[in-house]
Amino acid sequence: MAASALHEIGVDKLRGVGPQLAGKLQKLGLHSVQDLLFHLPLRYIDRTKITAIGGIQPLTEVVIEGEIKASDVVFGRRRSLVCRIQDHSGTITLRFFHFNQAQQQSLQAGTQLRCFGEVRRGKAGLEMYHPEYQHLNQAKPPALAETLTPIYPATEGVTQQRIRDLCGQALQRLDTHRLEDLLYADLDSPRLTYSLVDALRLLHNPPPGTALNLLAEGEHPAQQRLAAEELVAHHLSLLRLRQKIQQQGAPALAPNEAASQRFLEQLPFTLTSAQQRVATEISADISQSLPMLRLVQGDVGSGKTVVAALAAVQAIASGMQAALMAPTEILAEQHRVNFETWLKPLGIRIAWLTGKLKGKGREVQLAAIADGSAQIIIGTHALFQEGVEFHNLGLTIIDEQHRFGVHQRLALRKKGANLDADTEGLGSTPHQLIMTATPIPRTLAMSAYADLDCSVIDELPPGRTPVETVVLNNLRRNDVIERVRASCTIGRQAYWVCTLIEESDVLEAQAAEATAQELQLMLSELSIGLIHGRLKPKEKVQIMQAFKDGEINLLVATTVIEVGVDVPNASLMIIENSERLGLSQLHQLRGRVGRGSENSHCVLLYQPPISGNSAARLKIMRETNDGFKIAEKDLEIRGPGEVLGTRQTGDMQFHIADLQRDSHMLPEVKTIALTLLQQYPENVDLLIARWLGHSEQYGQA
Ligand code: ADP
Ligand code: MG
Repeated sequence: MAASALHEIGVDKLRGVGPQLAGKLQKLGLHSVQDLLFHLPLRYIDRTKITAIGGIQPLTEVVIEGEIKASDVVFGRRRSLVCRIQDHSGTITLRFFHFNQAQQQSLQAGTQLRCFGEVRRGKAGLEMYHPEYQHLNQAKPPALAETLTPIYPATEGVTQQRIRDLCGQALQRLDTHRLEDLLYADLDSPRLTYSLVDALRLLHNPPPGTALNLLAEGEHPAQQRLAAEELVAHHLSLLRLRQKIQQQGAPALAPNEAASQRFLEQLPFTLTSAQQRVATEISADISQSLPMLRLVQGDVGSGKTVVAALAAVQAIASGMQAALMAPTEILAEQHRVNFETWLKPLGIRIAWLTGKLKGKGREVQLAAIADGSAQIIIGTHALFQEGVEFHNLGLTIIDEQHRFGVHQRLALRKKGANLDADTEGLGSTPHQLIMTATPIPRTLAMSAYADLDCSVIDELPPGRTPVETVVLNNLRRNDVIERVRASCTIGRQAYWVCTLIEESDVLEAQAAEATAQELQLMLSELSIGLIHGRLKPKEKVQIMQAFKDGEINLLVATTVIEVGVDVPNASLMIIENSERLGLSQLHQLRGRVGRGSENSHCVLLYQPPISGNSAARLKIMRETNDGFKIAEKDLEIRGPGEVLGTRQTGDMQFHIADLQRDSHMLPEVKTIALTLLQQYPENVDLLIARWLGHSEQYGQA
């Protein structure tokens, strides 16, 4: 008999699974017996041994045995049945809020019991609320659990007992059915000492004596074996994505020496060698008929925009459109201003689109985008929403990508594939350039952006002086205000950034307004501007322009100015409640100064008392200006979710792997993934399906 594969056996084939339960399991993503095998416990409890009552620690779950010494119904705020139970080493209280007559009868003094439950500190010393219990027959004590008891992720409407039973049945099928070890053992990695099946058996049913502390930390070799496999699956899913996109082909955008020269000549500076190197990489990529998928990392102020503009010039010189998407209106507007200065002299036509552009103005822009009279289109994510038809998009540039998740990246790619007949023969998907100013630690980039090639602009334009940072208690606020006065009086400009814990535009705007008023009272001779997310786009633009033109001395702002804002004359930045922000965000904000040749300063105000963690963050900010170092520290302190941005986190959910804990295996994961792709391509989709399900995200690129 040819046994069918475990991923082909539905959960409804298991004992006790009717249509209703099968439906619930479906909702949890558990369709097949294989899915159950990969549904791993979150943690374990030890019911394999009896703990002496005298040795119990609060907040642990233990099995105890003893004799009931007293049993009373107590009328407190809630009526409860209270039993004192004793063994040779001590006593503990059992407390039941729900009980019936029969139960009370069966829990009389003198009864021998075995109980299991969580121990808490209660009114009467250590207590167990509603323990599970069994009556003891000394002659024939009930058997203890033979393995550690797994606790599975909470599953609505399916009890732990039921899930344990189903996983148990799934494990039994391993005796008769093969579960393909898709990471072939001859890959010969120390990660793979456990076979897949052994690892699964152990994790569903750890034998007594299995190191619970290792299991709790996810450091047990069996867990590490599966974590490695899961990371390989993720890595492969991104590589697959890349393959799929690259199968589509792209328009070859030939380098145009004359156009690039004209562009470079009218810039007020020359490119740094890092900019030149990255520009050359991009130029070579987009001249191919294979879609470019490239991430450009560069610290704040390293000059990514101009490199992107150069790529756009190459696209436009080949008769194609380029689109530049920024995460905020302010940044999009600033790009528009820059690109107009740089590209208008070359006769390049620019269109502009944000979500807030409505009515006639919008129609005009849409028409220009659709008929090709717009050659570069700048905007926010509105660029890639319904109703926007490009004429012939050849290059998509996404700025400050850390604000966008994988899904948005995919949506953009799909959009770009809507090329019309005019471009026949030119390929079907635009080249993609992604820029991020949050440097991403190498290992993390490797796994979160495995679908992208990576370039790094690792040099700042000449003449920049590092921003000097001080950390000050808010009690010193008046000194800081004096410092702003002194700086603005000699013609410099400053930012004052207000931060809030809640992500509320309204509250943040209110806080900034109040601060602006306070500062205006104290600094009556200065012109103070206010900018926040609640202003109309037009107003934001006007205020930014006034600040740029030097009409505003001090700009009070919320974190809307976090990315991209570029006013070189601003040389002082105050960040209030800086202890609330993460390192990367602080670094971004601080990057708004230090853009000119003047010495720049950043004051991080904090409101005491602050936690050790916050203090450590602020100390790092004081010590370094290096975005890559800061990102590494951020990763250590806050973990990958924060470093990649919250949006990314949702995209990077793992069953068992943990990017931070397991980051040491990422280089090896990459090697294994590449080997599989080359030597065992038939395993790749199976592995992806095993760990990521048949998620649409990866199905269609
Ligand atoms: P980021 O990489 O943070 O996006 P920008 O592209 O905004 O940086 O560039 C920061 C500032 O540096 C801008 O004012 C830009 O015009 C300027 N800049 C870029 N490249 C150079 C260069 N090679 N020399 C001097 N200034 C430059
Ligand atoms: Mg930028």
